[in-house]
Amino acid sequence: MSHPKPPIIWLNLMIFTLTFSIAAIGAPLYAYFVGFDWQQGLMLLAAFSYCGLSITAGYHRLWSHKAYEANAAVRFIYAIGGAFALQNSILHWSSDHRIHHRHVDNNDVDPYSAKRGFFYSHIGWMLREYQAHRYTDYSNCRDLQKDKIVMWQHKYYVPLAVATNFGIPLLFGLIHGDVWGALLLVGVVRLVLSHHTTFFINSLAHIWGSQPYTDKNTARDNGFLAFLTFGEGYHNYHHIFENDYRNGIRWWQFDPTKWLIKCLSWFGLASNLRTCPEDKIEKARATMMLKRIQTRLSAGPDSRVVLQKVEAEYDVLIQKISEYYATRKQLLEVKRQALRDQYDNLDIVKQYQEIKARLEQQRRDWKLLTAQYA
Ligand SMILES: [Zn+2]
Ligand SMILES: [Zn+2]
Repeated sequence: MSHPKPPIIWLNLMIFTLTFSIAAIGAPLYAYFVGFDWQQGLMLLAAFSYCGLSITAGYHRLWSHKAYEANAAVRFIYAIGGAFALQNSILHWSSDHRIHHRHVDNNDVDPYSAKRGFFYSHIGWMLREYQAHRYTDYSNCRDLQKDKIVMWQHKYYVPLAVATNFGIPLLFGLIHGDVWGALLLVGVVRLVLSHHTTFFINSLAHIWGSQPYTDKNTARDNGFLAFLTFGEGYHNYHHIFENDYRNGIRWWQFDPTKWLIKCLSWFGLASNLRTCPEDKIEKARATMMLKRIQTRLSAGPDSRVVLQKVEAEYDVLIQKISEYYATRKQLLEVKRQALRDQYDNLDIVKQYQEIKARLEQQRRDWKLLTAQYA
């Protein structure tokens, strides 16, 4: 039995259609007849990056997954950038996203289930009232409701979205001298690029790419999508280790969101960066590889002996991974202790402590003495 489709959300439909048409038709025409210069191009890149990183580092890794903690000034900057990206409030976005992770690929619950097809998971889910009841229930984000910046942004989301989307391009246009060009490029083109690259994570990153860590859900690792989305393309890793502040864990993987968070931590603006234990990551990869070989070999003839060998090697590998990481942990602990002992025994440290104690005594004496005569 097929259910009637829920009503269309006209505002969303209008925003998506209008902005896309202007970006696809208006901007090239303007480029041809009037032209854009490098400063406008640079501003487009800056505004696109601001929107993108506010969503990836802020909405996604900070608020939805609590992969790290950030200073209030950083959270405020993300909150403004998120409104500029026009992807609903932090509270709503995070609530949707937590459901997506918990019920991934479940067509009845996952708000943008990839199993409902490319169009639905990309944009279709926002065009009709599929999740109308969700606009009041944020019970899965009680922690975020304690964040004053989140609640402030939620309350003033519409004025903030309007102010940033018109204000920032307008301001730049006035300074640069081409208001219409700025509204077109930094306003509309930036918004459309930002929208659809982010939407690719819900659609393409669940369809196109490899599954090195798990095949229990549709999420894929895709370096090209990572390039378009500030590192979010490593979505297969992300769906299994969702609280890791990194999505691309190798040094050569393109994950500017990870780099930003790490830099913020060097300046004391971010803390408690969470990472998944390395042994778990390595075991997940090995298990996935074994599974793939099992599937491939089970189809062929005379595969039993090979399969047994692979499985035996897998068991040894898992055991050695456990052994190695346990020993490494011990070693690091011993090193830390040794360093502490060594430090305590250093002459300069002893000298310093003695001098410090003598000074403190002298200060006390001085205070007592001066109190008598002052
Ligand atoms: Zn996903
Ligand atoms: Zn996520």
